[in-house]
Amino acid sequence: MKKFVIIGNPLSHSLSPLMQNYWFKQNNIAGEYGKLELEEQELKNITNKVKTGELTGINITIPFKQKIIPFVEHLTEAAQKTNSVNTLYFEKGKVCGDNTDIYGFQSGFLNKITKKIDNKKKILVLGAGGVTPSIIYALSQKKIVNIVLANRTIAKAEAIQKQFSNVQVIPWNSLKEHLRDTAMIVNTTSLGMKTDDPTPFNDAPINKGTIFYDVIYNPDKTTLAKSIQNSGGEVFNGLEMLIYQGERAFEIWTGVKPKITNELISLMKAEIQ
Ligand code: NAP
Repeated sequence: MKKFVIIGNPLSHSLSPLMQNYWFKQNNIAGEYGKLELEEQELKNITNKVKTGELTGINITIPFKQKIIPFVEHLTEAAQKTNSVNTLYFEKGKVCGDNTDIYGFQSGFLNKITKKIDNKKKILVLGAGGVTPSIIYALSQKKIVNIVLANRTIAKAEAIQKQFSNVQVIPWNSLKEHLRDTAMIVNTTSLGMKTDDPTPFNDAPINKGTIFYDVIYNPDKTTLAKSIQNSGGEVFNGLEMLIYQGERAFEIWTGVKPKITNELISLMKAEIQ
């Protein structure tokens, strides 16, 4: 039996065990995928379990996607470019770290809407956390480069700007001024996961048809997503990104590309309030 875990803190929201265990069963692979909430000082020890074979693979989520890097022996190009690792596996005697969030965002969303985006207008990215470089890298790969980045802690946005020179950083409290000129807004913050979270520009006027992508998938629609939809925006959540990043991780670990069935999507949606 091959063993896998997702590590993070907190982890109660994770749908990855449901998804990965569904695919093990569907593909008749003897695998078991669990979740492990841990502290930063335990990262070295858990990474070592991939080296010893106790674990075949690990997924990494909030807040460890950067913090895991010092313990990884080989980084894929995607992981290097984004300084972010969400999948560990063992290959050629080394613990390897990859970033499948980029593929998840591209396959679960971006590939479907790239043609709709007016490249002369701005793409407003909210947040500068672990997942943000993956989103900016994926956009840049599609030649969507007119990116404006805002984060509550501006120093973290400026650090990302050092990685991606096409990004313009603006203060968090100036967001509203940029909305008129914006074709798409991507929320990469965790704002909206809790129902009483504040919204960054609730009820500020947006262009009709503005595309809003939320990396959050639970709740299904955040307060911000609802308010943008009510103003004529087109909203998408992060569920498909989650599914596609998981699909890629499963393929890395097993060599099998699993099927994303309607049954799986229904099972996952049933877990979302
Ligand atoms: P992270 O590294 O902890 O970053 C959190 C971000 O949210 C930071 O930019 C932080 O701003 C911002 N933030 C938190 N509370 C805020 C508040 N009250 N006001 C304004 N900004 C606030 O997290 P992450 O790993 O990037 O993940 C972010 C979200 O993406 C999570 O909800 C995660 O579940 C989701 N996610 C989804 C997928 C998917 O497949 N759909 C994949 C990865 C992540 P500061 O820097 O100022 O603290």
